Amino acid sequence: MDSTLRDIGFKLDRGERLNAGDGIALFECNDLLGIGRLAQSVRTRLHGKRVHYSVNLHLNPTNICVTRCSFCAFSRSSDDPDAYTLSIDEAETRIARAVERWGINEVHMVGGHNPALGLDYYTELFRRVASRFPEVFIKALSAPEVHDLASRSGLSIKETLERLKKSGLGGMPGGGAEILAAEVRKQICPQKISGEEWLKVHETAHGLGIPTNATMLYGHVENYADRVDHMMRIRTLQDETHGFRSFVPFPYCRPGLNAQDRAGNGATSVTMSSGFTDLKVLSIARLLLDNIPHLKVHWPATDFKFALAALSFGADDIGGTNLHERVMREAGSLAPAGLSSGDLVRCIREADYEPFLADSSFELR
Ligand code: SF4
Repeated sequence: MDSTLRDIGFKLDRGERLNAGDGIALFECNDLLGIGRLAQSVRTRLHGKRVHYSVNLHLNPTNICVTRCSFCAFSRSSDDPDAYTLSIDEAETRIARAVERWGINEVHMVGGHNPALGLDYYTELFRRVASRFPEVFIKALSAPEVHDLASRSGLSIKETLERLKKSGLGGMPGGGAEILAAEVRKQICPQKISGEEWLKVHETAHGLGIPTNATMLYGHVENYADRVDHMMRIRTLQDETHGFRSFVPFPYCRPGLNAQDRAGNGATSVTMSSGFTDLKVLSIARLLLDNIPHLKVHWPATDFKFALAALSFGADDIGGTNLHERVMREAGSLAPAGLSSGDLVRCIREADYEPFLADSSFELR
């Protein structure tokens, strides 16, 4: 084993917390199997052979977004021919069909910052879904969406989240975190809320008992120090709030297809992440984020076959069936647009793990 890795291994054996310097050293180390072995021992201690999954529908109420991050292939302007907004009835019908057809236990709902959709749209939709399908966990609205709704409603983040929770919001996804460092955000999402604001929304949600995830979008213009800083800031907040359930790193998808590349904005400095990097990021996240219970491999971004290998590099959360996922597909992902729960369970077993149905609060079913 690489000597840096051996020292980090001793540290872990002594129960010592890794620091930012260890994080950088891990990114600089190319002993992938060694890093993976350390991460896997943490994963096994926490979860044994368990793999958590949900039967979930992805629902994107609108693709109209005024924020237009340069990496995003999903968003549209309101006058684009393929711009859309679902009515509350249409969104409710899609969920009802998914309950009937697939028996979903969770809906994952995120979309653009569309000035035509106010807080009332979401509270009404959540109320209807929660009363008709109490078994469906509503995981919805990334921190930038919550922030956008709050500013347009003239309410505080806390008041906005209280109303959403009261109407049925069960938890929040971790989107919009990208890389928290200001310099990186300036390049890839200058119109989006700052890293500090992203953390504040999650802190507020945790204070109200709303569990959330945290994502990291890597493989664009960030460097190792940015990735480590990102994880450290999330770890610091988690020490205070304990509200993050799962950390979800995923790679910038398919250079060549999104606005950042079409505009020639940074395309030359962008290389698509390799499976080697993806496994390394997952394993390092498992080692640095010692206070976040779960680590998710977001297979729509990495492909499903890869996700099964990731289960042996620290990940215990395979997300879900991800039915009708379209954000990654629009960025060019070749992963299937959803799996049946039977296929998901069969593949988890084939990889010698034990499937456990859960929702994003990680209450097992
Ligand atoms: S990532 Fe989100 S906020 Fe950014 S352009 Fe896409 S939909 Fe809008």
